[in-house]
This record gives sequence, C-alpha cells and structure tokens, in this order.
Amino acid sequence: MHWPKLSTQKIKLKIFEALSKNLNYRSENILGVPASFLDTDIFYDDAPFLKDAPFLSMLIANPNHIGCHTLGGEKEPIFNGTQEIEKDLIRICAEEIFGANPHSYDGYVASGGTEANIEACWIYRNYFNNEFGANTNEIALIYSQDSHYSLPKAANLLGLDSLVFSVNENDRSVNISDLEKKLLAQIASGKKYFIVNINLSTTMFGSVDDINKITNLLHLLNIHYKLHVDAAFGGFIYPFTNADSIHNFKNPHVSSITIDGHKMLQSPYGTGIFLIRKELMQYVCTEEASYVQGKDFTLCGSRSGANAGCVWMILHNHGSVGWSVKMNQLLDRTASICNGLDDMGVEYFHNPYVNIVAIKSQYISASLAKQFMLVPDNHENPEWYKIVMMPHVKPGIIDNFMNLLSNELLYKRIQP
Ligand SMILES: *Cc1c(COP(=O)(O)O)cnc(C)c1O
Repeated sequence: MHWPKLSTQKIKLKIFEALSKNLNYRSENILGVPASFLDTDIFYDDAPFLKDAPFLSMLIANPNHIGCHTLGGEKEPIFNGTQEIEKDLIRICAEEIFGANPHSYDGYVASGGTEANIEACWIYRNYFNNEFGANTNEIALIYSQDSHYSLPKAANLLGLDSLVFSVNENDRSVNISDLEKKLLAQIASGKKYFIVNINLSTTMFGSVDDINKITNLLHLLNIHYKLHVDAAFGGFIYPFTNADSIHNFKNPHVSSITIDGHKMLQSPYGTGIFLIRKELMQYVCTEEASYVQGKDFTLCGSRSGANAGCVWMILHNHGSVGWSVKMNQLLDRTASICNGLDDMGVEYFHNPYVNIVAIKSQYISASLAKQFMLVPDNHENPEWYKIVMMPHVKPGIIDNFMNLLSNELLYKRIQP
C-alpha cells in the first residue's frame, strides 16, 4: 500500500484539472441532456470561496457518473475528467487496499453498502441463471445471523431463498456445524448454487467471519458458489490494522467486496464502493439503457461524480501511511476501553483489529446506555450494547463513561 499524501494545494489542483476536462454546462453547447449545474439561487456559482473549495465546486458543476467507468469501451464524454478520478479511486481501493492485480477488476461508487451488497447478489444470481441455466429457486443466499440487513433485503428483491447460519454466542464466530447442517438440508431440497456473504466486520460486533473455515467446508461438500465480502464497515480499517488479512482479492475465492466511505472515512453519504473481479459486471448489463453511452451496469443509475471526487480527496489528504496511523490510533483507544472493562470484570466481545466493543447488557443500565447513545443489538430485549470508537470520540467521553459504569457496578455489588 503506498498511495501518496498530497498537499491541499495539489489536491485542489487535481480536482479543478479534472473538472476542466469535463464539459461545462455554462460554456459549452450541451443541448441533449436532461441535466444541468445546480440551481443558481440556492448554489450561486460566483461565491468567492469556491475557488478554494474543490468539493463544493464539483457539487455545483454536478457531473453525472452514471454507468461503470472501469469497463472501458464506449464512454459518456461529458464528464470524462471526474470519471478518471473515480477510476483512480477504484484502483486504490481494489489494488492497494484489497490486493487486486492491475486491471483485474471493475467497480463504481454506489449509493452505499446496501446497494453494493445487492449489486453483488444480483450479478451472481444472473451468473448462475445465464451460465448454468439455473432456476432462481435453485440458488440460495448464505449469510450469518450477525450480517447486515441489506442481505435479507437483497434476497427479498432478487427472489432468492436465504440460508442464515448461526454464530457462537460469546465470540460471534461461525457455527460451522450449523452451516453444514443447513447446507445439506438446502441441497436435499434442490438448491444447487450458492451466493456466500462473508463479513469483514459485522455492524454490531465488529466480528470477522473466518473465511477459510467457510470455504473449506464449501469445497469439502463440493458446493458451487460465488463469494462476496461485505466490508462496508471494516473495509477502511481492517486492511490497515491487520497486515495478514486474507479477506481480499489475493484470496482466489473472493469475487467481490463492498466498502463504505461514509463510515470510517467520514465522506458524505452516497459513497459506498463496489469492487468485483473482471468478467462479472457484464451479468447485470441493462441493454435497454440505450441512451447511456456504454450502457448501465449499476443498480442506481444517475449518481454524483462529486462523491467519488470527495473520497479520492480524503484518501490523498492522508496518504496510505497517514491513514494507517489514524486507524491504529483508533484501535489503541478501543483497546484501552477493553483494559478498563477487564479491570471491572465486565464481559464483552472485541475483535483486536476492529474499533468496536460489544458489551453484555447485564453490566449496563438502560439509562447509562441511553446517556451515551450505545446501540443495542435489538431494541426490544437488548443482550448487547456496542461502543464504536469513531474519530469524534475523545478520551474525556470514554473516561466519563467508564467512571459512571464503575460506580453502577460498585453500587450493584454493595446492594444486599
Ligand atoms: C453499514 C453497513 C451496510 C450498509 O451500508 P449503507 O451504506 O447503510 O447502505 C452493509 N453492511 C455492513 C456490514 C454495514 O456495516
């Protein structure tokens, strides 16, 4: 990993250069598109600060990145400049963060992790339909009980049956015998093709599915599958905190990955990132998208080029080294919470490479959880509360929380 840190000046220059390569609604003959710059009463384009504000300038210029730009072939020529920025962003994510070989992947900036996960399932469903003449009722979507709700959402939209395997209560690890039992039952009931989701950190626990354990079982049972990694939460932290990660494209069993910029990276909403190996995007080509040059391969259609530009800017503001330092600092602060909990004898789950701590609910009063906005695993009958160590969480807040928790526990102990 070695993308450079660039100065604010250099970043500005690159973005304005890209914008200048787009066609400009103000100065060029653009008669045929149902789009324009942003409303000038709300977003006036002559504000003096705009020359120092590359993101706002991109927003106002309003480039549309509809389609998938890593595919090559015919291109929408209007927004070529900022589309090149998006391609460079996809390159950094696929090659540098997730170990892909050059030119071996496609990808785009999606509305979020939900869209990227659905896109993956959509591609694999069509892949099994088209390549093997599979009926959709012969395909199942496999994911753990701790997976994000975008997976049942995808199953519902795509008409797929779900296989939800359980995890072990305390360490949230894959219950492999449950998975095996359910797989055998699905096969017996006629399922032949499987779309497998692996979590590179679940939202609630920060747990990471053991990819080898799962693929070994799939191979043992001779299962025909495609594997997606949901790294919506973990994608911008785990590869930087665990150098030995195998949840990436170096692993031949991984076909696609979801990452979210709008979580750890602090980019605006609308910055999910979808990455997939070459020769697979084609299965969701919408041929009817005849007015889009190069057709459409995405779920969302029109999307803002400013979002891609913004993620690119954030990554270059830190550089790969700076980002690693920042993520490891978050991890240090997370570890200090765990040390405090150990001292108090509080039970919790924590993956050492992820900035989440899930605490068993019996140790925390509902009012303390509410005071610190801890999120429960479910709102009806919480069994866990989680702390997410985000950049806004300062040591003072943590100290305050730990003191109050310690007092609560002490009080409980001296109660008769
Ligand atoms: C947040 C999240 C998603 C969904 O992302 P959105 O950007 O909210 O659509 C999917 N999977 C995981 C693990 C997540 O944490």
